[in-house]
Amino acid sequence: MPVVTSCPAGCAAGFRETDIALPEGPLLACTACGHLVSQIEEIDYLAALDKFDTEAGTLPNPLSQKRHDQRARRLFARVRELLGLNPGASFRLLDVGCSSGALLLSAKKEGIDAEGVEPAQRAAEAARAVGLTVFAGTLQEARYPPDRFHVVTMMEVIEHLRQPIDVMKEIWNILVPGGILVIGTGNADSWTVSFMRERWDYFHMERYGGHISFFTPRSLERLAGQCGFRIERLETKRVRFAESFQAPPVVYRTLKIVAEVLNVPAMWCRKGHDLLAFLRKV
Ligand SMILES: [Zn+2]
Repeated sequence: MPVVTSCPAGCAAGFRETDIALPEGPLLACTACGHLVSQIEEIDYLAALDKFDTEAGTLPNPLSQKRHDQRARRLFARVRELLGLNPGASFRLLDVGCSSGALLLSAKKEGIDAEGVEPAQRAAEAARAVGLTVFAGTLQEARYPPDRFHVVTMMEVIEHLRQPIDVMKEIWNILVPGGILVIGTGNADSWTVSFMRERWDYFHMERYGGHISFFTPRSLERLAGQCGFRIERLETKRVRFAESFQAPPVVYRTLKIVAEVLNVPAMWCRKGHDLLAFLRKV
């Protein structure tokens, strides 16, 4: 039985096969919203998740920690702006799927009251070992009280979920009225996908530990509406044409340059492959 059997964005429509060919079968597209899903079997999906659960998790190495902190600082500044808070003001944050706590560590440095939830046991233990507050289990199992958090982040998590609607509804419940949910994921409607098709490694089950569900701006907007959220900002960035396949050096270099040139129009047209969305509880 495939792990995904209906559109994760909540459409009642069926799927059609795409020409994006993966070992487990071609990706399927929702005929209503264009959302892409994997045909992976449940047993292989669970094995991929387990293989990815390590102590290292997503903790950046010391060399990349500074860059990680800078990125997080920009993210928190934008969240404060959306909440109408002063620069540097604290707020209560929950990072869903926090892995071993990279974002939480950056948040703590900013004076933010941050905690996490992580179902992968080894990663959760690693986060606790460095003094972070992390519930080891699923969001629903954590049973946070209603209106507990001003901000929930879910970075590179939603593409692993077979039923994101259940998780989104729980997030709605634990956010204060007007609270912000930040979602970072890949963009299946990007120029990277148009060109690279199955060569885009984001689609590969083993590479990132169980990617099964691939959002587009349209399908994310639909999911948000189904769960009581409004998208305040949605942006995409980065185009990639050259990696993951063998090309003669001159072709490789040319594709790299074309992708660099297209980075800016991709942002304007929402065709970059990194998707970042700020949703408000309404
Ligand atoms: Zn759909």
